[in-house]
Amino acid sequence: MKGLMQDWPLSVTTIIDHAARFHGEREVVTRTVEGPFHTTNYKEIHLRARKVAQALEKIGAKQGDIIATMAWNTHRHLEAWYGIMGMGAVCHTLNPRLFAEQLVYIANHAEDQFILVDLTFVPVLEAVADQLKTVKGYIIMTDRAHMPETTLKNVHCYEEIVEAESGDYKWATIDENDACGLCYTSGTTGNPKGVLYSHRSNVLHALIGGSADVMGLRSVDVVLPVVPMFHANAWALAFSAPMAGAKLVMPGSKMDGESIYELLDNEKITTTAAVPTVWLMLLQHLQKTGAKLPALNKVIIGGSAAPRTMIETFEREYGAEVIHAWGMTEMSPMGTLGALKAGMEDLTTEQLLDVKVKQGRAVYTVEMKITDDDGVELPWDGKAFGPLLVKGPAVAGSYLKSEGGNILDADGWFDTGDVATIDENGYMQITDRAKDVIKSGGEWISSIELENTAVGHPDVAEAAVIGIVHPKWDERPLLICVAAEGKNPTKEDLLSYLEGKIAKWWTPDDVVFVDEIPHNATGKILKRALREQFKDYVLPTASAAE
Ligand code: ADP
Repeated sequence: MKGLMQDWPLSVTTIIDHAARFHGEREVVTRTVEGPFHTTNYKEIHLRARKVAQALEKIGAKQGDIIATMAWNTHRHLEAWYGIMGMGAVCHTLNPRLFAEQLVYIANHAEDQFILVDLTFVPVLEAVADQLKTVKGYIIMTDRAHMPETTLKNVHCYEEIVEAESGDYKWATIDENDACGLCYTSGTTGNPKGVLYSHRSNVLHALIGGSADVMGLRSVDVVLPVVPMFHANAWALAFSAPMAGAKLVMPGSKMDGESIYELLDNEKITTTAAVPTVWLMLLQHLQKTGAKLPALNKVIIGGSAAPRTMIETFEREYGAEVIHAWGMTEMSPMGTLGALKAGMEDLTTEQLLDVKVKQGRAVYTVEMKITDDDGVELPWDGKAFGPLLVKGPAVAGSYLKSEGGNILDADGWFDTGDVATIDENGYMQITDRAKDVIKSGGEWISSIELENTAVGHPDVAEAAVIGIVHPKWDERPLLICVAAEGKNPTKEDLLSYLEGKIAKWWTPDDVVFVDEIPHNATGKILKRALREQFKDYVLPTASAAE
C-alpha cells in the first residue's frame, strides 16, 4: 500500500523560498571582492536569484546546462547558486586553486557552458580561455564601474545583466533526482572526478547538516562559512543556513587570521566552519593580539584532522565548543561529526579531548563500517582499523560520465580511501588515508597521529610525516616540520617531545625542518609532493640496518 502524502519534490529552491518568506529580513553580509562590506537579506537574495536565472536564460543558457562559477563566498555567489539551480541547470563550482591543466581538464570534461567569475580569477581564466572548448561566455561578478579590461570573449557584467531583469520568474519544474550541483574531487588516482549532487541529496544533506548534533543551526545564529563554496559543497552551509534562517556572513577573498577575527568580532559570529589551516592562522592572530571571542559558540573543524592542541585552545581559552567533522566531496560532504553523547557528562577534560580528537559519529543517513583486507567487517572496539566504507542517499553512486567505472561494491558500499577505527560509542577515528599510512615491518604507523602530536610542540607551526624507504623495515617515518615564527626547534627537541606520547616504534627516524610544507588546492598537505621532494632522502638509520 502506498502512503497518501503529497508529492513535494525536494528542490533546493524550496530552501530559498522558505528563507525569503519566513526570514526575509535576515541579513547576508559580505566582505566584497571589491573591498567594502555589503549587506543584503534573504528576500533580496531570493529576488536576485530569480533575476540571475532570467539573465542566464537571456544570454542563452538552458535547463540541464552545466554552468560554472569560480568565486569566493559572497552574496553574489549565493544568489548565483540558487539562480543556476533554480533554472534547472547544474552549478559547477570550479576551484580556482587548481593547476591550470586540471582546470582545463575539468571545465572541458564537465562541458561548462558559461562561467561566472569573480574579479580575482579573471586572469586565471584568461590564461586558459583558448583551451576551454565548450564555454560560450563569461559573466564577471562585479558592477560596471569595476569591470576590468579583459581578453576573455563574450563577456557580460553580472550586475548589469542581473539588474536588467524583473525577477518575475517561476523556478523550473524539476524532478527531485535531477542534478543541481557538480564538484570535482582530486581523487586518489587518475584525473579529477565529478561528483554530481541532486536536488534531493542536497536538501536531505542540508536538513541533516543543520540538525542539533551536527551544526545545530537556529535562526538566531550568525554563521561564518569560511569553508569555500568552491570546495565540497561548502559543507552544505549555503543550504542549511538559509533553511534555518540564520544570518550569513561571507568572508570573500580574505581568510588570514586578522580578517577572520574581524568578521568573528564585528558580526558576533556564533557558528563557523573551516579547515585546520584557517584556524591555525586565527589562533596565531588571537595569541599575538590577546583578543577574545565572547560571541563564538561553535567551531566546526574538518577537511583534515583537527590537532588536539587546537581543540583544547578553542575550548579552554576561547570558550567555543569544537565539533570535529569528517567527510568528503563524494559524501556531500559530511560523514561524521564529533558532538558528545549522553553518558559523557562526567568525563574529565582529558577524556573529553580523547573523544573530540576522533572524527565523530555518523550523521543520520550515513551508514559506515570498517573491514579487513578481505572485506570482513571489523569490530567497533576503537582498536581494529581498516578501510572505511560508507553508504547513504547523499553519497556518490558513480562519478560524472562513469569516470573510474563502478565505484560501489556488490553491496552498494563506497570505499572512502581512508583507514579508520570505530569505538564502542560509534566514534570513528581516521588513522590515515590508505595511501599515506607508513608500512613499517608489516605494521602500520599513522602519519596523522604523528603529525598531530608533533604540532603540539609550541615551537612547531606545521608538521607532516611521510614514509621513507628503509632497507630493513620497508618504510620508516620522516617528520618534516615548519618552525613557528621566530623559533628554532631542533631534531632532539622534537624527538624528546614525542617520547611517551606515541608508541616507541613509531618514533620518526629523522626530523627535518623546511620553510614551507606544500598544500593542495583544498588546503591539505600535499604528501605526493613531499614524497617526491624527499625521494632520494636517506634516513640516518638506513645504513646502520644494512
Ligand atoms: P580532496 O581530495 O579533493 O581534498 P575532499 O575534500 O573530499 O577531497 O577530501 C576528503 C578527505 O579529506 C577524506 O577522505 C579524508 O582523508 C580527509 N579528511 C576530511 N576530514 C578529515 C578529518 N576531520 N580528519 C582527517 N582527515 C579528514
